[in-house]
Amino acid sequence: MYRDTWFEIDLDAIRANVRTIRRISGKKFIAVLKANAYGCGDIRVCRAVVDAGAEMVAVSSLEEALVLRGEGYDGELLILGATKAEDCNKLKDNNITATAYSADWVDAFCAQDCAGLKVHLKVDTGMNRIGFRTVDELRAAKEKLLAAGVSLEGIFTHFACADSSREMTDRQYLKFAEAVQALDYPFRWIHCDNSDASVSFRDPLSNACRVGISLYGISAFRDDLKPALSMYTRIFHVKKVQAGETIGYGATYTATDEEMIATIPIGYADGFVRANQGRKVFAEGALCEVVGRVCMDQTMIRLPVYRPEGTLVEIFGPHIPLEKMAADLQTIPYEIICLISSRVTRIYIENSRKIAEDNPRLSSI
Ligand SMILES: *Cc1c(COP(=O)(O)O)cnc(C)c1O
Repeated sequence: MYRDTWFEIDLDAIRANVRTIRRISGKKFIAVLKANAYGCGDIRVCRAVVDAGAEMVAVSSLEEALVLRGEGYDGELLILGATKAEDCNKLKDNNITATAYSADWVDAFCAQDCAGLKVHLKVDTGMNRIGFRTVDELRAAKEKLLAAGVSLEGIFTHFACADSSREMTDRQYLKFAEAVQALDYPFRWIHCDNSDASVSFRDPLSNACRVGISLYGISAFRDDLKPALSMYTRIFHVKKVQAGETIGYGATYTATDEEMIATIPIGYADGFVRANQGRKVFAEGALCEVVGRVCMDQTMIRLPVYRPEGTLVEIFGPHIPLEKMAADLQTIPYEIICLISSRVTRIYIENSRKIAEDNPRLSSI
């Protein structure tokens, strides 16, 4: 790593969080590792969650599923989103489970040689994204798929407001329960809980939870999960400016006094978005304001006390929780970590030691 900007992923914390949530929910554990495990690196997070007891991994697309297979994961693997009928053989050859979400999808797959394909049925209970909306549609799908020799292994729905509205969650759950009962089929996997529902919602029907964000210690309900993620850079230049001088593109910041300005090698091309202007980062004991516009590759911060070149700067982590950064930016932690670009090296901690430094973009140098 030549540039001192990195995203640190604590695999010990992820393991601990899997165990804690499993204990609280009392259900089988499906780890949601879509979008390269929310930017954290799918295969390393995958190994950690499986080691901690996860029985299944879920991703968003066939591409993501095949990447995990290519990286050596050979356990249960579910695609939560849409898969095309013409890719039926890829699913079967790689033992990947697909989601049936509409009558058209079922028709297209049943026109292929889909015997033996593993499928979960998706029920739309109010999210209005994908999924069957009525018991009649579900019954028809079930009959068609079984007649085609599909292995109907699961049924699931997705809550829209697990972090905010118990009433909405209850309403969605009732619709889901009604559908599962009406189908009267021995599904091996019945799942509705995302992270927040996994630790806050009790039901007698589902036997697995689907956990994404709480793998990393982020939860609307629990404070006993371990924060697993942090991001750092290092000051590489410090200068003094005089009152009246401006900083950066557009000259949007003017020094009011003699000020110490440090430059850090992080910018919007790393996912450190321009809206960070005016927020603070943490430079070894001192909160420092981001002054002037965030550039593509560099950002200037005002040091309240002198810090030398090489000083560690926390973007988020123990002193600036990811949740706080997200609130400041009027977004959610998911978006911040998913936007950390491929340019940023991922550093993995295991048994309290750094075990790996991944940056696929640097593989050719
Ligand atoms: C992303 C996703 C999850 C995980 O949600 P978290 O809030 O991160 O736990 C679960 N189920 C589905 C269908 C998803 O798309």
